[in-house]
Amino acid sequence: MGGSRASSTYGDAVRDLRQQLASAPSDAPPRLAKRTSNLFRFREPPTGPTLDVSAFSRVFNVDPDARTADVGGMTTYEDLVDATLPHGLMPLVVPQLKTITLGGAVAGLGIESTSFRNGLPHESVLEMDVLTGDGEVVLARPDNEHSDLFFGFPNSYGTLGYAVRLRIELEPVRPTVALRHLRFANAAECAEAIAEISKRHAHGDDAAPVDFIDGTVFGPDEYYLTLGRFTDDDVPHSDYTGTRIYYRSIHERTTDALSVRDYLWRWDTDWFWCSRALGAQHPLIRPLWPKRYLRSDVYRRIVALDRRYRLSDRLRALTRSPRQEPVIQDIEVPVDRLAEFMEFFHREVGITPIWLCPLRLRGTRTWPLYPLEPDTLYVNVGFWSAVDLRDDERVGDRNAEIERVVTALDGHKSLYSTSFYSEDEFRKLYNGAEHDQLKRRYDRDGRLPGWYDKCVRGR
Ligand SMILES: Cc1cc2nc3c(=O)[nH]c(=O)nc-3n(C[C@H](O)[C@H](O)[C@H](O)COP(=O)(O)OP(=O)(O)OC[C@H]3O[C@@H](n4cnc5c(N)ncnc54)[C@H](O)[C@@H]3O)c2cc1C
Repeated sequence: MGGSRASSTYGDAVRDLRQQLASAPSDAPPRLAKRTSNLFRFREPPTGPTLDVSAFSRVFNVDPDARTADVGGMTTYEDLVDATLPHGLMPLVVPQLKTITLGGAVAGLGIESTSFRNGLPHESVLEMDVLTGDGEVVLARPDNEHSDLFFGFPNSYGTLGYAVRLRIELEPVRPTVALRHLRFANAAECAEAIAEISKRHAHGDDAAPVDFIDGTVFGPDEYYLTLGRFTDDDVPHSDYTGTRIYYRSIHERTTDALSVRDYLWRWDTDWFWCSRALGAQHPLIRPLWPKRYLRSDVYRRIVALDRRYRLSDRLRALTRSPRQEPVIQDIEVPVDRLAEFMEFFHREVGITPIWLCPLRLRGTRTWPLYPLEPDTLYVNVGFWSAVDLRDDERVGDRNAEIERVVTALDGHKSLYSTSFYSEDEFRKLYNGAEHDQLKRRYDRDGRLPGWYDKCVRGR
């Protein structure tokens, strides 16, 4: 079913997509034919039907007066930002990896350094057209007969339907983001500062406004918060898209300035710091690595090949190195439990660097499949590496231990990577009863995969 379909209008494209689903064999779940993915649950290449969704990979319209955009569900944030910045606007939350798509970030959650004031990407969606498992395309809004789907869509990971068009809010930008990197001696001090700055949206005796906050941890006694502020000041911009590496600059300097575009993509060039494992930061290799390939989607493709052919595993076996378990997760805990989580994490996992990002729901609305509490400030903790296994450990043990600690601290875990919850636990944590109801209404025949099957069993 793949191939490119030139559809002249949005209505044609929707009809075509419905037709594709209707004519696909019903004995295997369909999959999206997408060139990129940022999931870290690797699956075999599809053998069943695939849906060509290329007609939904673009921005349909930007309305600078209303500060909204109508966007195809499979549009990458890179294309979305390129369409909005010329109007002096950006989405309220721009996940850091260029090929994350709007639909992927809404169905699978996203976060960035504006999340302390703008919440998560799905909270600035005004309405969306969803191709449901039943083959209908429904308009889901917070106030119409499909509001259950609107609120239940975030964290459903394509098990209820696919968003093909979303109308989102935008906010104004200024040309430069001025940065301040603040150092803290431990997690408790850092958590205290996160709470204070997120409350005031300002920092320091001069109460300088703060538009962006995230953090980088290099070790138990080396925590940084990076505060960003929009400015029109005409200051020189740093460039971390070539030989210089952004995350290293955090402990090398206390202030910095980036163009707004470079700020939004500051983490993509080196996939945060994960390009290091692929040699892209080596001083002899870096100058030879073509600049256009310093991108997270290029690194992810390399990792996907490695996983598929088990190259690193074989090399480790040959060199008699310890077995490893990938620990690639984003979790969040309430800010007042951050120090406890970090103490556990440094002791039992030991991965560095680590990414921190505060988030709070934008308002009082809640989202049943990812139950964050309104009025609670959480801190997202991202860690993307591997640990050596002890002789008595099995692959999965360390991830499962992280899950247990996160739950005990009233936190949550994103589902883009591997998970080890039992089905009962999963249903309790993420509201399985609500998902069942939505599945009964929008995917009666179960054309799309089950939620636990997809997110935990990795099917
Ligand atoms: C190392 C690493 C770091 C990460 N860091 C961050 C981070 O800091 N911030 C952040 O926001 N995210 C982060 N992510 C996670 C990423 O946002 C999610 O994995 C997201 O779901 C990926 O979206 P995608 O567009 O690439 O979708 P895909 O990978 O293509 O799909 C993700 C899932 O969503 C479903 N899906 C895709 N499009 C749609 C649609 N239109 N409608 C319904 N369902 C759909 C797919 O079926 C699939 O189950 C990180 C991931 C990794 C691996």
